[in-house]
Amino acid sequence: ENRYDKGLTKTRLSFGERLNRLLANFRSVDESFFDDLEETLIGADVGYETAMTITDELRDEVKLQNAKKPRDVQNVVVQKLIDLYNQAGQGESNTLAMADQGPTVVLFVGVNGVGKTTTIGKMANMFKQQGKKVLLAAADTFRAGAIEQLNEWAKRDGVDIVKKPEKSDPSAVVFDAVKKAKAENYDILFVDTAGRLQNKANLMNELAKMKRVITREIPAAPHEVLIVLDATTGQNALNQTKLFKETTDVSGIVLTKLDGTARGGIVLAIRNEMHLPVKYVGLGEKVDDLRPFDSDDFVHGLFK
Ligand code: GDP
Repeated sequence: ENRYDKGLTKTRLSFGERLNRLLANFRSVDESFFDDLEETLIGADVGYETAMTITDELRDEVKLQNAKKPRDVQNVVVQKLIDLYNQAGQGESNTLAMADQGPTVVLFVGVNGVGKTTTIGKMANMFKQQGKKVLLAAADTFRAGAIEQLNEWAKRDGVDIVKKPEKSDPSAVVFDAVKKAKAENYDILFVDTAGRLQNKANLMNELAKMKRVITREIPAAPHEVLIVLDATTGQNALNQTKLFKETTDVSGIVLTKLDGTARGGIVLAIRNEMHLPVKYVGLGEKVDDLRPFDSDDFVHGLFK
């Protein structure tokens, strides 16, 4: 069983099966086949450039390998998708960068509603299951209910949380959390941040201040700044990434709500266009609906 099974149903139905149908009717390498393929790829949100690249390379490859059977052509498509993803991210790691010693600090950024708090809740559970001592910092002091929501996750996961009243200075929350993480030997500190984008300068200042507070206590931290993106927002997610990349040093992506979209190809587009590794994907609302991202498994999951 593929570990993305549940979350990829919609993409598989629209993209994988459409491709399978296309391939089932494959008789010879003619232009209409490649046109259809390009359209199918664009429809899955792999991005225009990516769709063109794949189609062009596939055209050559199919000739080169003298592929005649649909199955052969499908194998070439699958391999192309995997290669493309892996090439775009050469040298980047799909796993979370961990501190050599002391607490690993991970900052989560992203606009409201993308699933930031939920992702932290899921990740806290995941790392706790792995035997880590996890601390959460409720530094989204701006969105009404965010602190309470994170607090609920902390209770459910059985992990500790540092929080202050709404509208407190986020950096003050982070300060307390980092101090606590160091003093009490936590393995991981996950920091939730506010996702208001109305004022880019404010956001930039706030994130910079939080980072300063963290770095003062732990020079190598934050070890990761993960941007959380909602896969159902398609190209919007790409724009958000651009904006946050201009605002702070983003090190990786968590792509949520893949279960809610037929355009799972967005994973490939994001990697290609943003040069950031997708580290985790969200496949539902429940605590265990989060998976580390693996390009091989993911692409194979589209076509099973
Ligand atoms: P935040 O504002 O970024 O902190 O977003 P929340 O964590 O509050 O999530 C917003 C909504 O998205 C909630 O209803 C979550 O249950 C839902 N959500 C988060 N991740 C996923 C996912 O992977 N799949 C689905 N279907 N829903 C998700």
